[in-house]
Amino acid sequence: MENLAQSLRINADANAFDIREPKMSDTFEVSGISFAKKKRTIKKIPPHMRRRKINFSLEPRWYKRLLWKLREDSQFLRSAVQLAFVLLCLWIGIDFYLFVAWGTSGGIEGVAHHPPGAEGFLPISALMSLKYWLQTGIINDIHPAGLFILIAILAIGLLLKKAFCSWPCPIGTLSESLWMLGERLFRKNLRVPRQLDYLLRSMKYLLLFFFVWAVWGMSVPDLKAFIYSPYNRVADIKMYYFFAHISSVALWTLMILIMLSVVIKNFWCRYLCPYGALLGILSWLSPFKITRNKETCVDCVLCTKVCPANIQVHKAGRVWSDECMSCLKCVEICPVKETLEMKSSLSTKPISSLVFGSLVVGVFVAITGLAMVSGHWQNNVGKKEYLHHFQNLDSPLYQHNRGEVPQYNDQGFSE
Ligand code: SF4
Ligand code: SF4
Repeated sequence: MENLAQSLRINADANAFDIREPKMSDTFEVSGISFAKKKRTIKKIPPHMRRRKINFSLEPRWYKRLLWKLREDSQFLRSAVQLAFVLLCLWIGIDFYLFVAWGTSGGIEGVAHHPPGAEGFLPISALMSLKYWLQTGIINDIHPAGLFILIAILAIGLLLKKAFCSWPCPIGTLSESLWMLGERLFRKNLRVPRQLDYLLRSMKYLLLFFFVWAVWGMSVPDLKAFIYSPYNRVADIKMYYFFAHISSVALWTLMILIMLSVVIKNFWCRYLCPYGALLGILSWLSPFKITRNKETCVDCVLCTKVCPANIQVHKAGRVWSDECMSCLKCVEICPVKETLEMKSSLSTKPISSLVFGSLVVGVFVAITGLAMVSGHWQNNVGKKEYLHHFQNLDSPLYQHNRGEVPQYNDQGFSE
């Protein structure tokens, strides 16, 4: 009879996924006391269940190879979406730079066009716009694009878990690039001890709670006063100046965050991003979850090893974790057919990466497109008014009032 231990091992052939038993020493130590480690055994994959690696180079025509990769390789597709959104943000950034050049030069240089996409970087203002809209039915015309971008992000969270973080979010892409750089430089990323990890993860929920509590406590007149205030009208310009003339304290904070993001996976997203916290909460309501077939799983732990959110995927039936970003890395690496899939609770069939990615982009494009066709994309701040704001930007009228609703004089900017 074949040796049982051998039969449990997987012999990965050249065409198949490279599966090796995780390296584990037989013992581990706590306070000088030695404990025996439970050895993991990996079951053998029946040949008909083995997923074969696709050799894309077999297709000689580049455009067909590209389409094939987009269809079959979830990580290639995700990288393409990430790149597209980073380029979009760069375009918005250049547009905004030219707009600020126009304003600071008194309308002589640059381009007199305020890019609405920049409002996507004003989440607090968008949260106020959302509450104002829910309570009054009015879509404000100061930062309407910001409101629709927020709605699109929330809709993605509700439908497709935290897919916004790992597909279109430019900060998520930057975060991922930084920890991948760290992995390349130091061969691995730091793993935060479990207790400290829980403690740090709660910080983003505290930040979210603070913002939601502050905004949700505001009355409709207070919301209106803030939304139509001179400060909010130029909030994106102020943000631009914040980064263009960054203080040494802010620069050091940014540098520290970047360094931490190099050594710890998704440091900003995992511990500090209130958007991530909000999407994590919404993700529990999403019908889609990574689902593991316990019958066919061979316990190779590859899914857990590759998960950037440190989720124990190989132990889960359905991944409910608020940290799951729907990146599909675990699905891509699973060597067994029909074992790890993104599934909706409404269907027994899995959703393909192409359909999933198209839904992420589709929901975003549909909601922002709706804003465009319904005339709620461009704001209603005219060129003359913008030039006036640029000229008076340093006056106390444009200062942030640290959470208080300011008492503005009648400057002609109220609704
Ligand atoms: S569980 Fe899978 S989809 Fe979720 S974050 Fe981990 S690797 Fe990505
Ligand atoms: S679900 Fe995870 S542990 Fe199971 S076979 Fe797939 S990659 Fe391996």
